[in-house]
Amino acid sequence: MNIKMKDIFDQVVLCEKCNVRTIKNYTSLEGFKIRVLECPKCAEIVYHPGDIKEYEEYKKLKTRDFNVKLRMVGNSFCVSIPKEFIDFHKEFEKEFNDLVRMNLDGPGKISMFFYSKKFYNNKEDNIEQ
Ligand SMILES: [Zn+2]
Repeated sequence: MNIKMKDIFDQVVLCEKCNVRTIKNYTSLEGFKIRVLECPKCAEIVYHPGDIKEYEEYKKLKTRDFNVKLRMVGNSFCVSIPKEFIDFHKEFEKEFNDLVRMNLDGPGKISMFFYSKKFYNNKEDNIEQ
């Protein structure tokens, strides 16, 4: 027997309260793009279970603190990015881009952004639907 996994979000899903067809949409939880099914009648929202799992993993990793050392390489400084961050990013990104964007975010704070189709990098980024 050949078992094919189908995504429930690709099927017609009815709202259990109203018995009307739900609408596919997206929402954002802390920058996470989460697929949702919305009931047009009662506005009930069902989150995609796979996307919620990713979000939970992210929340776990987010609580961890890493201390890394600055190293001088030529005229620049280098820091080691913990493997966990890269692995996490790679896991959900189909096309991994090793280019990162960096800016001075405030006194004593540098921000670094991976190029990502999956996640919101910042508020100005648009998401293709
Ligand atoms: Zn409903």
